[in-house]
Amino acid sequence: MTVYREELSISSFRRFELIDITDKVREVVSRSGIKNGIVHVFVPHATAAIIANEHERGLINDYITLIKELIPPEAHWEHNRIDNNAHAHLAAGIIGPSRSFPLVNGILLRGTWQNIFVVEFDGPRAHRRVVITVIGE
Ligand code: ZN
Repeated sequence: MTVYREELSISSFRRFELIDITDKVREVVSRSGIKNGIVHVFVPHATAAIIANEHERGLINDYITLIKELIPPEAHWEHNRIDNNAHAHLAAGIIGPSRSFPLVNGILLRGTWQNIFVVEFDGPRAHRRVVITVIGE
């Protein structure tokens, strides 16, 4: 078994943003030389998350609308006394900082409508880290 790891740097440009990293993840998988195993995609941040879903402009906007409705940034969250981003911590905590994908015969297994996104809840940020670990053989 081999473990291959790479770290990417992603920039965000808006407070809420979905950033499609599917091609970057596939490139890391290709560089790993591993053909079968698991691909783990992780953001080491408390105010961003990883999801797998359709890259369609309307759905991307819907996702941001849903998060704002479920966890309104302007609500009276206690953490906002510190740095005014409680909503981002809460959304990131609920959705989670990572997703894993099967790697089968060199193919990153995804549904037709499953692109891989970093979800930014507290942008813009010049430097968001994404750690991709490929485990297998
Ligand atoms: Zn905070």
